[in-house]
Amino acid sequence: MTNGNNLEQQNKNLKKNIEELKQNHNDTVEHLERQLKVEQDLLESQQRFKTVFEASIVANKIINIDLKMVQINQALCDMLGYSREEILGSTILDFTRPDFIDLWYDLHEALWKKELPAFQLEACLIKKDQTEVWVLVNTVSFKDRGQTMGYTSLVDITNRKLLERHKDEFISTVSHELKTPITSIKSYCQLVERDLLKDKKAEGLDKIRRMNAKINDLTSLIADLVMASKIESGKLRTKSERYAMDDLINSIVDDYKKTHPGRIFIIDKNESVITMGDRLKIGQVIENLITNATKFSDRGSPISISSVRKDGSIVVCIQDHGRGISPEEIESIFNRFYKVKEAQSNNEAGMGLGLYISSEIIRNQQGKLWVDSKVGEGSTFCFSLPIIS
Ligand code: ADP
Repeated sequence: MTNGNNLEQQNKNLKKNIEELKQNHNDTVEHLERQLKVEQDLLESQQRFKTVFEASIVANKIINIDLKMVQINQALCDMLGYSREEILGSTILDFTRPDFIDLWYDLHEALWKKELPAFQLEACLIKKDQTEVWVLVNTVSFKDRGQTMGYTSLVDITNRKLLERHKDEFISTVSHELKTPITSIKSYCQLVERDLLKDKKAEGLDKIRRMNAKINDLTSLIADLVMASKIESGKLRTKSERYAMDDLINSIVDDYKKTHPGRIFIIDKNESVITMGDRLKIGQVIENLITNATKFSDRGSPISISSVRKDGSIVVCIQDHGRGISPEEIESIFNRFYKVKEAQSNNEAGMGLGLYISSEIIRNQQGKLWVDSKVGEGSTFCFSLPIIS
């Protein structure tokens, strides 16, 4: 009897074990099926990426942390004129015109250190046949199995760059050609003014003085064009001399007080500071900012100028209470030939070069130029320059 009971119990246990085994088996199969699906999805998405990456007409590359190209597409090979084998394993800097290497390298460093989420730059590459190709570069970083990698697209902008160069050469030639006759006209004008003054011909004198003022406007427009084309072609030459910023500000503001009677110019603070750089060109920047402040604010409202030391730099600010600049336009006002919409529609004088030239001069002197502005309340343009100790 006891033997019979044991057998029954054993039989029950066996059935239970079989049930459990069945259940475990089902779980494993389900798990494996899920894993298979994930892997299939991954494979499909990799396939999709590979197709898009490869078929793109834009040149693409994937780089590792050492900037070595680990994956490239046919468009990059066609762009550079090298085979895939010749490119893979090298860095794009091996194909870059030397004057762009440092900047590009520094941008990568900033990207790897997460100081930048991505970067964009215009650079020039050298093809196998030694001709140049200009590219707009876009790079982002991403993680691949724990490793930091970069994805870059390179768009060919050579035609646009060629057109820009032709336009710059045209502007440079025209402005240089205009300089000589304008200088002669100005000299003749001054001779006529002297004769009229001698003969006390008041009416004629007034006309010739107006003419002189217009010639001065024309001369400064041409000077701006010449300066802008020098900047564009990298030929801006600046001096390095010691000068007192406070003296420079005082003499410019004194001149403005004489030439703009009735306008209020206030020097808020003018710290005594010796700095190093191109006094004449920095003077040009200050004059441009004060001229803009007078142009874009009412005659009755004051223009304040201040100059203070801050963290090893001197910060010079010109504040007006004029029409101000909208946040959407602030980004663009330092661009070459940019005039705000209001200035364009009012047909206001000026070619939109003043702030471009000023910001390039300040950049050239290792400084910064910026603006705070509110529509209807006015603008404060400031620049900072390093002080010599
Ligand atoms: P321009 O040489 O033609 O005066 P700028 O480069 O100096 O051109 O200025 C670019 C634009 O910025 C101008 O269209 C002008 O409307 C705007 N702007 C410059 N300074 C001021 C200011 N202080 N207040 C308001 N708008 C300004």
